[in-house]
Amino acid sequence: MSPRFSYSRINTFNNCREAYRINYIKGIRKDNENIEAYLGSCVHYVIEEIYNNANSSINFDEIVYMYKKSWDDNWHDSIYLIDGRKKVSQYYSLGIECLKNFYKRNIENNSSFLKNALGSEVEVEFSMDGIDFRGIIDRLDFDSQASQYTINDYKTSKRIISPKKAQRDLQLGLYLVAIHQKFDIENPVILKWHFLRYGVDIVVSPEMEDVDFIKNKLVKKAKAILDMSSDRENFYPNENILCNWCHYWEECTAKDTSNPAKRILK
Ligand code: SF4
Repeated sequence: MSPRFSYSRINTFNNCREAYRINYIKGIRKDNENIEAYLGSCVHYVIEEIYNNANSSINFDEIVYMYKKSWDDNWHDSIYLIDGRKKVSQYYSLGIECLKNFYKRNIENNSSFLKNALGSEVEVEFSMDGIDFRGIIDRLDFDSQASQYTINDYKTSKRIISPKKAQRDLQLGLYLVAIHQKFDIENPVILKWHFLRYGVDIVVSPEMEDVDFIKNKLVKKAKAILDMSSDRENFYPNENILCNWCHYWEECTAKDTSNPAKRILK
C-alpha cells in the first residue's frame, strides 16, 4: 500500500534519510520526546482547548491553570533535556510566555476572537497524481463576510520564517492545497504563522501560481521518495546539529552510542 505523505514525513527525508529509513521504512517509533517538543504540545493543547471550550471571557489566569494541568497530567518518563545548561523550569516558563503573547495578541480586549474559528486540529487528506497526502491544521478560520479562509499555525520554536519563504512553504502549503481541494475558494487563502515566543505573526496570501508551485513540489518530492525507497543505498546518515534532537542513535549506522541527552527525572 502506498504511504500517505505528511509534511513531517517529507521534512524527515530532507533532513536525514537515515532517520527517514528508521522511522518510515522500518517503522520504529519511540515515546521519547524532547522538552522543547513537550512544551510545544502543552501550549498547542491549551490553545486548542480555548477554542473548543468557546469561552469568550476566558482570562489569563485560567489559561495558566490549563497549561499547568496539561504539563503535570501529561508528563511521562521519556522526556529529555538536550541543553544541559538549561533548567526544566525555564521551559515551563517559556510555555507561559508563549501563551501570554498569544493571549495579548488574540484574546485580550477582543471578545469576538472565536467568531471565525471553524475548528482546531483539523485533519485534512487529499490525493494528487495518485499520491495521498495528509496533515493536521492547528486552527482553520473562515470569515464569511470576506469569504476568506485562514490557516493558523502555532510555533513555539525560535526561528521565524521570512514572508518570502512563507509564500511557498511546504508545511502550510500542504494545508493550503487541502483547503483548495475541499472548499470553493473565492479569495486567496491566508496563511498565518503565530510565532508565540516573540508575539510575532507572519501572514501571507499565496497566489494561484504559488499554490501550483507547492502542488508540483509536493508531488515531485513524494514521487522521488517513493522511487528511492526500494534501494537501501539511497538511505544514509546526514550527521548535523539536528542529531542532538534525534532519538534514533541506537538504530543509526553513524552512531556508536545512545544520544547523550538527559532523561528528566521528576
Ligand atoms: S542520529 Fe543524526 S544521522 Fe543518525 S538518524 Fe538521527 S539525525 Fe540522522
